Amino acid sequence: MPPPVFRFAPSPNGYLHLGHAYSALLNAEAARQSGGRLLLRIEDIDATRCRPEFETAIYEDLGWLGVRWATPVRRQSEHLADYRAALDRLAAMGLLYPGFESRAEVARLVAEREARDVWPRDPDGAPLYPGTATSLPADERERLLRSGTPFALRLDMEAACRLAGDLIWIEHGSGPGGESGEVIARPKAWGDVILARKETPTSYHLSVVIDDALQGVTDVVRGQDLFWSTSVHRLLQQLLGLPQPAYRHHDLIRDGAGTKLSKSTAATGLRELRSRGVTPEGVRGLIGLP
Ligand code: GLU
Repeated sequence: MPPPVFRFAPSPNGYLHLGHAYSALLNAEAARQSGGRLLLRIEDIDATRCRPEFETAIYEDLGWLGVRWATPVRRQSEHLADYRAALDRLAAMGLLYPGFESRAEVARLVAEREARDVWPRDPDGAPLYPGTATSLPADERERLLRSGTPFALRLDMEAACRLAGDLIWIEHGSGPGGESGEVIARPKAWGDVILARKETPTSYHLSVVIDDALQGVTDVVRGQDLFWSTSVHRLLQQLLGLPQPAYRHHDLIRDGAGTKLSKSTAATGLRELRSRGVTPEGVRGLIGLP
């Protein structure tokens, strides 16, 4: 069997904190123990939030921690053509449709539904798409497309699930409810997810799945906050005929109040800790690693 391939895939939209250190070190350790490789992937598709100085800081902070990765580093912003090709395939299968509502319009539609009844939310707590894009008459859709009206490309979840059938994944870690082993994927819980937008011609779900396949990733080790995203990833892998990695979702590092870390602060940021004289060994101690 070829050696396993792991990856650490941060987004350069802020400085790394203890949560990132934990994930990167778990990946590095798993690669070392299994005689595998660790890749680094820069998930920089969101041009409005990602900045070059954060990317530079990722290399510096990981290097300081003692994490080593195989090169070249894959930067998602340089591979938009790969995501485009996948979108074309899904479109040819009749699984995509354009939604022309702005974010504000979507929010208004949700508020309208919620005023009448309980409206379902996805595993991240965001309301499902309430739009009416699928019932848009074909000539109206054509007119909007021709007029250059911005749209989001959405996955027709019902049709996609019909085509893909039942799916599971192998979980070596655990989910928020202790799920482990063979986990049943529940992509419908996400509704008609956006796979591309006008300003960002791909999405987290799509690029992660394409890259894991193109980079030969065999083992995905990441935070438990992404556990249920795996449902969508399995669906896309199945539709696009891509191999499925094994998954290990790890617990999250939380702050004193028990909240998941979202940005680097004096107490949790790797640069901040370093400037206060904390050593890489000290960081390991803070996150409970030997
Ligand atoms: N880029 C994602 C993040 O920083 C991680 C993606 C993944 O590991 O699948 O949260």
